[in-house]
Amino acid sequence: MHRRLIVPSALAATLVLAIPASAANSSAGAPGIGDPYYPAAGNGGYDVSHYDLRLKYQPQTDLLEGTATLLATATQDLSRFNLDFGLEVSEVRVGGRKAKFTKEGDQELVVTPVAPLAKGSATSVVVRYAGKPSQLKIGGWTAWHRTPDGGVAAQEPDSAVWWFPSNDHPLDKATYDISVSVPDGSQAISNGVLVSQSSRLGWTRYNWRSNKPQASYLATLAVGRFDITTEKTADGLPILNAYSKDLGDTAGAARASIERTGEVAEWLTEVFGPYPFNALGGYVPNVTSGYALETQTRPFYSPRQFAAGANVSVVVHELAHQWYGDSVSVKGWKDIWVNEGFARYSQWLWSEKEGEGTAQELADWVYAQHPADDAFWTVAPGDPGPQNQFHLAVYDRGALALQALRNEIGDEDFFAILKGWPAEHAYGNAEVGDFVAYAERVSGKPLAGLFDTWLYEPSKPAAPAAAEARIARSEGAEPERPKSWKAIASTNTIHDHGHERGDEH
Ligand SMILES: [Zn+2]
Repeated sequence: MHRRLIVPSALAATLVLAIPASAANSSAGAPGIGDPYYPAAGNGGYDVSHYDLRLKYQPQTDLLEGTATLLATATQDLSRFNLDFGLEVSEVRVGGRKAKFTKEGDQELVVTPVAPLAKGSATSVVVRYAGKPSQLKIGGWTAWHRTPDGGVAAQEPDSAVWWFPSNDHPLDKATYDISVSVPDGSQAISNGVLVSQSSRLGWTRYNWRSNKPQASYLATLAVGRFDITTEKTADGLPILNAYSKDLGDTAGAARASIERTGEVAEWLTEVFGPYPFNALGGYVPNVTSGYALETQTRPFYSPRQFAAGANVSVVVHELAHQWYGDSVSVKGWKDIWVNEGFARYSQWLWSEKEGEGTAQELADWVYAQHPADDAFWTVAPGDPGPQNQFHLAVYDRGALALQALRNEIGDEDFFAILKGWPAEHAYGNAEVGDFVAYAERVSGKPLAGLFDTWLYEPSKPAAPAAAEARIARSEGAEPERPKSWKAIASTNTIHDHGHERGDEH
């Protein structure tokens, strides 16, 4: 939710641009971007277009040293501005000149350049820093995973604060070059294409590039000892997967799932349209967590996702996010359904394709699992609140909403919408209301009532007529459990990220 600027007249706007910013007419950037769920997330007054992170990480001690160069444009006459960051900073330069800086709270770095920045002007911000991310606790909580052989940054809604300074909100996306030096024998995994790697004096540097807009929480870093596999898609895009050498008994199941990344992406391309990024893959570090995350181009998977055997469904979910969540991102965190409802529904579509239960059968099953007095129905997927942002209802009721839409408008329009939406908002941001309007436009039907019933009403919607007919046919018997249900339900832990934290951010 960008604050709208009020421009009194064209003449006034011209004058503002013609006069350099002065202390008199410039003001401090807001300490938050304006997201009601997380008031401190992101910042106001500027927009970042590119992050260049040059890092060095010592796995034995967890010491991370870095220089971050941000290319930014002031969106107001700016006397000072905030970055979201938690590690110890030694120097900040703005436009090449040393700037004053101070830390406010756990994660706000307040930067005052020697001279105010004029609205519309581009500048560089260089931040030198060092610290041990595992020692940074915010509200008693850390996003950083310390592993026996290194460390991992992969969390939602934020992890950047633990390893680089940023405008930490999906509204301000940017491209990334991430260069990481680690001791020989360790690897550094990040987003996008591995452009180059070189070794010198016992250290190996990995240079990664993510060349399409990327939200800060979708940037990832994993240092450890990995086995790496590489392939190419039919379209020639590089696939790079990384597996911790310490996965033990889950190693086979993890590989049997993630090595199907190219195949799953090929199928998703038929459903959602062209793959939006420059690379694919996934990685499984030796973390003790249970979740998975759609880190851009290279999802993070906890080994526990494969504890019971191979699970391609979780790969489907995280790859679906590359279109729904990564390319088209939320405007505010209240819009999480635009990510999770669709990623969950893609698991139902995969089941349908594999002959393990249609999306309708899965919808009937999910609907029957939750009686009317189940608290499940009190969570509104369309605006669940920060405490319920990753509640199961956002996923399962969110997918029920899509099945209801499909039944209402028919397959032709429904699949046109699934493919059209990622093109309509590619590399941008959108909110729930934008999707409702888009679906109405494509189908030519009024749909506000349907979405209100399935996304906002705090009660169990009446069974759709089609479901009533099916129930009547089976004489009221419980719907049969679809074959794919176990694999899909076992991915429910993918939303178990961050539930142990408070709402401090
Ligand atoms: Zn998800």
